[in-house]
Amino acid sequence: MSANNAPEPRYWEKMRLIAATLKEVEGPIVIIAHEDPDGDALGSTLGLYRALKKLGKEAIWILDPPRFLRFIPKEEEYHPPLEALPEDATLVVLDSGDKDRAVGAPVEGFVINIDHHGSNSRFGQIHVVDPTKPAAAMMVKDLIDLLAVEWDAEIATPVLTGIMTDTGFFRNSNTTPEVFETAAELVGYGVKYAELADRLSWRPPEYFKLTALVLSTVQFHFGGLAVTAHVTRAMIEEAGAAEEDSDDFVGLLKTAEGSVVAIFLKEREEGVKISIRSKNGVSAQRIALELGGGGHVPAAGATLEGKTLEEAYPIVLEAVRKELIRSGLLAPDEEDAKVV
Ligand code: 5GP
Ligand code: MN
Repeated sequence: MSANNAPEPRYWEKMRLIAATLKEVEGPIVIIAHEDPDGDALGSTLGLYRALKKLGKEAIWILDPPRFLRFIPKEEEYHPPLEALPEDATLVVLDSGDKDRAVGAPVEGFVINIDHHGSNSRFGQIHVVDPTKPAAAMMVKDLIDLLAVEWDAEIATPVLTGIMTDTGFFRNSNTTPEVFETAAELVGYGVKYAELADRLSWRPPEYFKLTALVLSTVQFHFGGLAVTAHVTRAMIEEAGAAEEDSDDFVGLLKTAEGSVVAIFLKEREEGVKISIRSKNGVSAQRIALELGGGGHVPAAGATLEGKTLEEAYPIVLEAVRKELIRSGLLAPDEEDAKVV
């Protein structure tokens, strides 16, 4: 498994082709994203859906949002998952590094794949994969411009949401000048920015109970270069929380002073789901690929199928050790960090 993190060389050519294709199609346009949808999965798909509807297209949006995003779509916008695609359908897959990660409809027929994960397998009849883009929603912003749909707050709000969440609210290293320029433009279309930012940060009482349990599992490794924590299904039950309530914890771990890798492990039915964040030249993506997953250089993930948490920890820490050695922060024979 590998990643190609180079920018898409034919970005505008392919985007123009997609815009022309979507303008021409008569049949339904089905829009889906990756499993465990985040703000970018929801924002990019819902933004494109609303833009296509405004163009008068028959668009179908299929996504099951986590609770913190459910205030954005309207009841009538939801469509249940499709077992099979209508014959004349065009499928648009957004923000999904892999065919298998896309959920909601079978990935078959005429597929348009728009994504920003370097580890994307480049599936589909048309694929635009640009890992230099901070969010799939940034790419959808360009596509909506090319479709020449008139922007309004309804379309701009989900698109901005994707950009806000995938840049860690304008704090991650992918927060380029272009991000601020695009965000400013989108806010100009009437997005209620302060209200949106506040609403996106709401968490239920159970989340706070779960936080207390999760923080008791925090551990530092390799002299503090790596920080880990985990959640078990028993902890989620004890707190009365939902699985999605643990999605933010890796971001909290990332704030550990002196650390360059943060890893959060989630015990799940199928195994252990791992979220990885990195900085200072350390690649979360390499760690994830080593574990059979993928993602971006600073944020990536994987699932260790059929493993328990006890089994997962040493496997994950070995992958971290390898990456710390590769990036020159740890000497091959050292348990602790080299002082650099
Ligand atoms: P998160 O830790 O927020 O679930 O995911 C971080 C990033 O890594 C996201 O961009 C996500 O799409 C990607 N990612 C997470 N888990 C997996 C996985 O199991 N396989 C692949 N290919 N990518 C993943
Ligand atoms: Mn994304």
